[in-house]
Formats: sequence, C-alpha cells, structure tokens
Amino acid sequence: MEHKIAIVGFGGMGNWHGELLEKVEGLTVAGVYDILPRRMEYAKSCGFHTYKDFEEMLADPEVEIVLVATPNDLHKSLAIKAMQAGKHVISEKPVALNPEEFLEIRKVSEETGRFFTVHQNRRWDEDYLTMKKIFQEGLLGKVHRIESRVHGSRGIPGDWRQKPECGGGMVLDWGVHLLDQALQLMGDVKLIHVYAVLTNVTNQLVDDGFTAVLTFEGGVEIVVEVGTSNFISLPRWYMSGRDGTAIIEDWDLDGKIVRAVGKDEQDVVPVRTAAGITKTMAPRREDTIRVESLPVVKSDIKDFYRNVRDVMEEKAEPKIKLAEILRVMRLMEAIFASAKSKQVVRFEVTENE
Ligand code: NAD
Repeated sequence: MEHKIAIVGFGGMGNWHGELLEKVEGLTVAGVYDILPRRMEYAKSCGFHTYKDFEEMLADPEVEIVLVATPNDLHKSLAIKAMQAGKHVISEKPVALNPEEFLEIRKVSEETGRFFTVHQNRRWDEDYLTMKKIFQEGLLGKVHRIESRVHGSRGIPGDWRQKPECGGGMVLDWGVHLLDQALQLMGDVKLIHVYAVLTNVTNQLVDDGFTAVLTFEGGVEIVVEVGTSNFISLPRWYMSGRDGTAIIEDWDLDGKIVRAVGKDEQDVVPVRTAAGITKTMAPRREDTIRVESLPVVKSDIKDFYRNVRDVMEEKAEPKIKLAEILRVMRLMEAIFASAKSKQVVRFEVTENE
C-alpha cells in the first residue's frame, strides 16, 4: 500500500523530508506547497508536483498525510486546517509555541480522529541512543550527572529564527530536541526541579542559547546547554557515575568510557600545583582504571517514517506519543519561567511534596 504525503513549507527541512521520503518504502510525496515562488520553482526542479496554494493541497483526495515544515508559528494553524480537511498530520518540531497551542492541536486531532505526530527525529541520534544505553544498563554504576550540549559559533541564522513572534530562539529550536532526549533517557523518573538561564550574546529579542539544570527524583542531574557563540565546543555528552565516566566528544561519536576496575588506590601520588599539592585531584594509576570504547547503538532515521506508515496501516503504535510532546512543551515553559524569575521552578511535584 502506498501512502501519499504532501509537504507544506519547502525550505531546508521540507527539502530534507522530500529526499528522505523517496527512500522509505510505502510512502511517496504527493506534492509540495511553499509561499515563496522560488521555493516552488526549486521543488519543481526536484521533480515534485506543486500545488498553487494550501487549499489545493488539502482538496487533493490522494493526499493522506500533510507534513508541516514551515516556521514554528504556523504549525498550529496549518495542522488544524489539515486535520479538519480530513488529513493526518506530521508537524515539524517544536510542535507549537507553547503548551496551550499544542493542546488546541491535540483537541482537533481527537475531535476529527486524525493521526497527529511530531518529527522528534533526534530520538534516532546514535550519540543519544548510546548514552541512553550506558545509562539504562547501569554501565557506570549509579549515575549522578549527565551533560548534553551543542555548541556553535555562528549565532542564530538570520531568518525567522531571530523573531519571537515566529517562535525563534534556541530553546524552541535545539532545546526541544535535547530536552526531549533528556526526558526520554530518564524514562518514567519524575523531573522535580528546573533552573535555567538564557543567553543573549548576539540576539536581544530571542534567546541565542541557554543552560537548564534538570533535577530528577533520585538525584540524577542533567545539564542541557545550547550555545551559539562558542568558538571552542565542549563535548556533546558527558555522564558520570559512581564507577565510571563516559564522554562523547562530537557528532562522529568519538568518545570513551573510563571505568574503575575495583582496585583501591591507597598510595596516591599527590599532584603538584603551583599553589600546593593535592591527592584529591591526582590522576588515577593506570592499573585502577580501564578505558573502553563506547557501546555504539546504530539507528536509521527512516524508522520515524516507517513507524508513521505502520500506524497508518494499524500495525504499530506511534513511537512519538502526544503525552511526551506535552511534557517537553511544559518543560520549555518551565525553562522560560525559571529564566525570567531567576528561580528554581518545581516541575512534576504534587502540592504536598
Ligand atoms: P526554512 O526557513 O528553511 O523553511 C521554511 C519554509 O516555509 C520557507 O521556504 C518558507 O517560504 C515557507 N513558508 C513560510 N510561510 C509559509 C506558508 N504560510 N505556507 C507555506 N510555506 C510557508 O526553515 P527550516 O529550517 O526548513 O524550518 C522549518 C521547520 O522545520 C521549523 O519548524 C524548524 O523548527 C523545523 N526544523 C526541524 C529540524 C529537525 O531536525 N527536526 C531541523 C531544522 C528545522
């Protein structure tokens, strides 16, 4: 069975979807609509059918699914229109600008019975899946700290991403990916506290980076950081447990695990610093640690679309659940609230806790 998807918004990401969809069995691109004539010309040059407007796309009975890949502020209205016209919808991330907008979308999905999902594609990132495996299999013993960051040095792209009314800023852009990964990695563990600061190095109207400290029940702390003015990048991932530390340096998954081998070091050789000696910070003896390569988890981003196809054919449950989307939207709301008030925000705690 062939399922036809139409793409609204054929910019960088719409184009990426167009290319990817050609490689997924059972799904084909029915056509494309973009408000910019030059993007329509480009879509034609790629061999895609183009619709004269969004209404014509929605009126095409061949179209089963609409993929929304426009700037963030348009996701809600386009998704709602498409579902009301009888189409299933995939929205790019962030699903909407705030939790309330998302709840409006979810309500229409429930009322119309149309399937709605969000392209949280970074759940298929191999660096994230590798860290999740290390954590969930307890390879470092009891973990107390995880750091997940992305650093660039080019500021925010000079388009709608710089405008608050379009849903610009890095919390909504990269943050939604990294925060979603952090919540997924922790599974059912409650997130108790959120503390965040936003940066405005190159942009005053929207955040051009942020640091959020997430404290989970049981004590695991995850630091999520996005920077766009970092000319030296810190590692993509860092995880520290009672028995070892794991690091992933970059997108190529360079990294390692350094683990204690169970030998106690009674006779630590102190290290000399300019202002004195220290045993606490002295490096480990080689025979008390073991350096291991990462247990890299392989994945295939096409599985996102394979899942959508299987949901259409009632063969699978959606991999991206709407409750998870709501949770990450609420987390971003808590991050903005914390940054504004300069206070810790209590998250998944009941009144009595
Ligand atoms: P972009 O600016 O390159 O593309 C957006 C396109 O939408 C433009 O071509 C624009 O002309 C078109 N558009 C604007 N208003 C429209 C309308 N009313 N009707 C039809 N088309 C309209 O931006 P992008 O980088 O492709 O981002 C698009 C979306 O994809 C955003 O929501 C962004 O957050 C998301 N995105 C997701 C990922 C990911 O990894 N999942 C990566 C990049 C972008």
